Amino acid sequence: MADAPHPAIAFRGIEKWYGTRDEPVHALAPTDLAVADAEFLVLLGPSGCGKTTMLRMIGGLIAPTSGEIAIDGHSLWRNGQRQAKAVSDLGMVFQEANLFPWLSIEQNIALPLELKGTPKTQRMERARTLTKLVGIQGFEKRWPRELSGGMRQRAAIARALSYDPGILLMDEPFGALDAMTREAMNIELQRIWLETRKTIVLVTHSIVEAVFLADRIVLLSPRPGRIDMIVDVPFARPRGPDLQSTPDFQAIVRQLRQRLNEIS
Ligand code: ADP
Ligand code: MG
Repeated sequence: MADAPHPAIAFRGIEKWYGTRDEPVHALAPTDLAVADAEFLVLLGPSGCGKTTMLRMIGGLIAPTSGEIAIDGHSLWRNGQRQAKAVSDLGMVFQEANLFPWLSIEQNIALPLELKGTPKTQRMERARTLTKLVGIQGFEKRWPRELSGGMRQRAAIARALSYDPGILLMDEPFGALDAMTREAMNIELQRIWLETRKTIVLVTHSIVEAVFLADRIVLLSPRPGRIDMIVDVPFARPRGPDLQSTPDFQAIVRQLRQRLNEIS
């Protein structure tokens, strides 16, 4: 092996203050965190603790007030400039699928490639591969409004994967879905991750979702967010729905719930 490999994502002393008309808001206290390549990391914490802030900083959508973020060993910001090289390895999925209603499913999925100038035949081929990967093959020509919420979220995941980024950032991606669809999507997301081996950082405030999906869970304290606890989740993969009723699973859920109650 070569020299010590870079983590996929490195936070060094990352802190965030938001300027407002009143008092500045201290969203995140100085934080260090390294996410390994191909790791499934979940950020868990009470509402307002800075989960979205952390994710948006990783995605380069907002800049930290201080500290350094590196993606695959490349600094994300230099002299106040976002570095194109660092963000080119990132795909993002949000709570709402945010598909363009006037574009078909395959056009939505291929849009990032179109913006990059990829030729049409190549784009459409990639869209077909991705609809298969996320389990919506046959729906390529449909409009977003013709799909259920869960299927729209699958399309959003496909779009985020269109240019094959190494890192997938997901902010409460299933938060708007009903409980059963959400459980099915957790299993699907695990399958997609096992097939693609992306580095995933997923934000949730569902403890069960966190324990089901994560290799590691980072529990954040209330504002200003700081890392309160990191929990390793040892269960073998693929994990199935039955795992959730095992004592080992429930023990981790209980540990996190107790700690969340203590700190919120
Ligand atoms: P979470 O995703 O964990 O619910 P956020 O990262 O969205 O939390 O927000 C963390 C804190 O920062 C909250 O108190 C929120 O109100 C505040 N905040 C978020 N965005 C802004 C902003 N643009 N301006 C001012 N305060 C903000
Ligand atoms: Mg949030």
